[in-house]
Amino acid sequence: MAWKAQNELSATDAKRIDGSILQVDTQKKNMIYQLGEAFYKANKDNEEIDADYKVAVDNINKLEFNRKVWINRKMKLQGMRICEGCGNVLPYESAFCNRCGIKLEAVAEDLLELEGVQPNSESV
Ligand SMILES: [Zn+2]
Repeated sequence: MAWKAQNELSATDAKRIDGSILQVDTQKKNMIYQLGEAFYKANKDNEEIDADYKVAVDNINKLEFNRKVWINRKMKLQGMRICEGCGNVLPYESAFCNRCGIKLEAVAEDLLELEGVQPNSESV
């Protein structure tokens, strides 16, 4: 085989191998994400959590809280609110939930304030 033809063949092989590496990297990334999600779900209320993970878990809790704040802000703009008991969407001024029946408190102002998220120790 001429040098050029062999070189083109190995370039094709190298491209194929790059595709395999990318595939493995993507699978690995997805599995690490799933592992992180499972770890977070298991530890989001864990007060005894190892200090190595505490900042990251606290930050995700804050982001969950901030998500709720943004939803509350959007709902308030639309004259609506979400029942804290069952997630039902109701008119903002409702006194009771028409699905689960709980008495609705005024939407707490603290639910309209965003939490600051600090950088994870590993990424500083
Ligand atoms: Zn309800």
